[in-house]
Amino acid sequence: MYIDVLLELKNKQMDQTYTYSVPKNLQKEIEIGKRVKVPFNHRELEGFILDKKETLQEDFEVLEILSIVDQEIVLNEELIKMGKFIKETYLCSLSSAYATMLPKALKASLKTNIQKKYQSNLILAIPYQSAIELCKNNLQKEIIDLIYENEKLSKKEANLISSSSVKTLLNKKIIKEEQEEVYRLQSTGILEDEKKFLNEEQQKAKDTILKSLNKNEQFLLYGVTGSGKTEVYMQVIDEVIKKKKTAIVLVPEISLTPQFVANFKARFEERVAVLHSGLSDGERYDEWRKIARNEVDIVIGARSAIFAPLKNLGIIIVDEEHSETYKQENTPRYNAIDVAEYRAKLNQIPIVLGSATPSLERMAKSTKNLYTRLELKKRVNHALLPIVTMVDMASEAKKGNFILSERLKLEIESAVSRKEQVILLLNRRGYSTTITCSNCGFTYKCPNCDITLTYHKTKNNLRCHYCGYTILKKDKCPKCHEELNFYGYGTEKLESLIKEEFPDLKVLRMDADTTRKKNSYETIINKFKNQDYDILLGTQMISKGHDFPRVSLVGIINADASLNIPDFRSGERTFSLLCQASGRAGRKDTIGNVIMQTYNPNNFILKCVEEQNYEKFYNYEMQIRKKLKYPPFYYLISLKVASKDYDLCSKEASKVCTYLKQNLSEETIVLGPTTASVFKMNNVYRFGIILKYRFDDKLMPTLKELDKMFIFNNKVNLEIDIHPTKI
Ligand code: ADP
Ligand code: ZN
Repeated sequence: MYIDVLLELKNKQMDQTYTYSVPKNLQKEIEIGKRVKVPFNHRELEGFILDKKETLQEDFEVLEILSIVDQEIVLNEELIKMGKFIKETYLCSLSSAYATMLPKALKASLKTNIQKKYQSNLILAIPYQSAIELCKNNLQKEIIDLIYENEKLSKKEANLISSSSVKTLLNKKIIKEEQEEVYRLQSTGILEDEKKFLNEEQQKAKDTILKSLNKNEQFLLYGVTGSGKTEVYMQVIDEVIKKKKTAIVLVPEISLTPQFVANFKARFEERVAVLHSGLSDGERYDEWRKIARNEVDIVIGARSAIFAPLKNLGIIIVDEEHSETYKQENTPRYNAIDVAEYRAKLNQIPIVLGSATPSLERMAKSTKNLYTRLELKKRVNHALLPIVTMVDMASEAKKGNFILSERLKLEIESAVSRKEQVILLLNRRGYSTTITCSNCGFTYKCPNCDITLTYHKTKNNLRCHYCGYTILKKDKCPKCHEELNFYGYGTEKLESLIKEEFPDLKVLRMDADTTRKKNSYETIINKFKNQDYDILLGTQMISKGHDFPRVSLVGIINADASLNIPDFRSGERTFSLLCQASGRAGRKDTIGNVIMQTYNPNNFILKCVEEQNYEKFYNYEMQIRKKLKYPPFYYLISLKVASKDYDLCSKEASKVCTYLKQNLSEETIVLGPTTASVFKMNNVYRFGIILKYRFDDKLMPTLKELDKMFIFNNKVNLEIDIHPTKI
């Protein structure tokens, strides 16, 4: 018998399977998807069995495998297919695809040493009656009784009763020890749960999805903040499970959504596995085995949970579909939603993508009926959407209020006096490399690409990193003629300012610094939820789907910051972030109030936020995208040519550009090469090339060819990012 083995070699040159023969004594255990240990270049390596056969096509010499690593299959048929899909779609190596899909303990690599965990149990070695008769005291009897009643007793518990009795009973061979495999994560206190009576819109959404349980239909669940999307997911999943099928639920980031997970655990109890970045390697390995052994029906997790080895999948749900965390920013650069759609198709099951602010791409598809759109326009329990008021910071700045406007201060006071809570969002997603006038809010933009220009200090100029457009930086603002400078301040500064202004209020801060420790995010959320604090301030983290019934005021300190990021999606991101943040206000019996501070009160996107009007935003942004040939009208691909040698890098980048122009269809637009957004990082230079295309048969073959050309080049590296979220 012969097998094809895929080894995990970092080197892309070696991304192929190698054939080995199997000695007679191991043949019975050989199954596709198990790991084997093989000799390779005088080393021992681990790899996956991807194929087996009885004879060789040609007569060549092959080596024998050394051993089989697993009893259970690691890569089932479905996972093998997903790996191939990722390789073909994102042009990465097959071994890097599988490496991403699996928990560390199951990767084909000899370096890991993550073991299963065992617990010692005590069981009776002789019949109960004889055991009791041999007992010398009541403690021994108690232990025997407990074992008898439960069939087994953990040694740890028995030792708490009397460790000397345990020893005696073992020595006399009245009881014996047995090892049982256990999971590291034990479920903790579970919340109370009540299944909600769905309102009309929710019911309609649920019914529509349930009608398609046996086919591959794609749904876009567009529901405003607080419209009860989670309840719809849960009730649909309940029906799926009743049909003995399983479900995957993807969320942007588990640690940011403790409440979401808690709701699922409350309803489905032990049948939920949660995969998140906070798990240790051992815990992750345990959760994975639990899933593979059909001990759970539902898997909730971030991006990589799409690879959970659930069998009999019945539905896939993706919450907050617009979130960019679904795209992996390093190799393999896959998008979990694309993989989810592929997996749903493989299984011929529905997929539901939910959001309060759907991505333009998917909303556009839904208008063409490529997705079935389901809408939840109203908040549950007749709560109203918040009222958003814009405050012009240019006139506040003249009064000396650079961070907190008069209006916001007044609203904080009045909310707190009514014993309501306040959230303050400091939108800090700006780059110090963008220049904004602190007097009037002016920012330089590229006339061709409508994105913010990036400041390059060395040459004192501003450049567009899409097309290369360059202008010299002036000292005075071209609009208001005041001194031009960068501005920016952090959450810490905001916190101290708030404490100065409101010394009696209790303030919580949440940002990357205060959430570094395990569970600290959850702790802050709970503290605020228990109403021990008046104000929660922080970065975008606070805008996620939390449900704080007592929050009536949301203050957006600087609505502009994310508008000025040099990326064509910055408008979309800003709209989504500010709507999500606003959505935290007034969720139960108070009407929500949002104060949005800005230097650009006439900005169209911000006006849409003010009106909480997604449709208006959508129509406006779609026009721009159409005019400038961006998604969803064109697809994008970003290429980066990188090297430590500047001249070589520049030369190769030009060659790549020429090659692309020569080989791609005429309608495909090739932009660049330009110095990429992060031009020099760790002494590596990068040149960027952007492709905009609609239909191009020659695209994938050309990119594959190009990729091959660089595999053997160890001076210059080529990175291809298919459908990037940021360029
Ligand atoms: P979304 O995810 O759409 O922002 P949630 O799912 O967080 O909204 O729902 C908001 C709140 O409304 C939650 O506390 C949820 O338990 C509650 N809820 C959802 N559906 C109903 C319903 N039909 N009746 C009463 N309460 C509901
Ligand atoms: Zn440009």
